[in-house]
Amino acid sequence: MADSELVFKKSYKCPICDSSFKNLTVKQGRARMESTDFDLKINYRSIEPLKYDIILCPVCGYAALERYFERVSVFQRKNIIDKICQSFNSVFEDKDEFDFEDAIIRYKFAFLTCQVKMSKSSELGFLCLKMGWLYRSYAKSLDENETKKIKELNKLELDFLDKAYNYFEDARANEQSPICGMDEITFDTLLAGLCVKLKKTDEARNYIGIILQNRDALKRVKDKARDLKELVDEIENESEE
Ligand SMILES: [Zn+2]
Repeated sequence: MADSELVFKKSYKCPICDSSFKNLTVKQGRARMESTDFDLKINYRSIEPLKYDIILCPVCGYAALERYFERVSVFQRKNIIDKICQSFNSVFEDKDEFDFEDAIIRYKFAFLTCQVKMSKSSELGFLCLKMGWLYRSYAKSLDENETKKIKELNKLELDFLDKAYNYFEDARANEQSPICGMDEITFDTLLAGLCVKLKKTDEARNYIGIILQNRDALKRVKDKARDLKELVDEIENESEE
């Protein structure tokens, strides 16, 4: 099934320039879940919803993830107008679906917005996490003969997951839970998964220990932590060989 059958044009009002515009959004309940990766990335059949996660105002260039789109202070708004809108001159074609390259451009605008907004670490981390996952999906979507491009995308994925991890560590130390809408245990499970992906085995063991000792953690969460522990053992055994 083509993406265009699973998305629709949703109306938004830009909190910066007040323009009304439409943004492609995945229809609710239409993306079918297929599997979950160990760092909690959810994979869907026939669509990658991450491609549609950035709302971008085509008039002024302001861009953000939906959960942060409306959250702009007077000070941030002024900065965005001065540093983004006044020099924004990109033209976006009216499309009925996005490919990965379209999505990457949208994420880049969201990063620019985040920098100018001086966003919290959690917001930056969430953006880096989604960007890393987007590169993973992009690599998976290619024919396996395209080894050079796949290698490049795998590297970009790890770069962004590493950035996400660093922002999230900072958020965990300095921000109140829930962070990015995740409760403490889910957030720690995400961090443990990222550490495994990044082969930071000591840090992974630390988070896994925190989850296993948490009396509020459900059995399935602890089982997941034990699975991660096995992966850490494997990584360590490999590096000893
Ligand atoms: Zn705007």
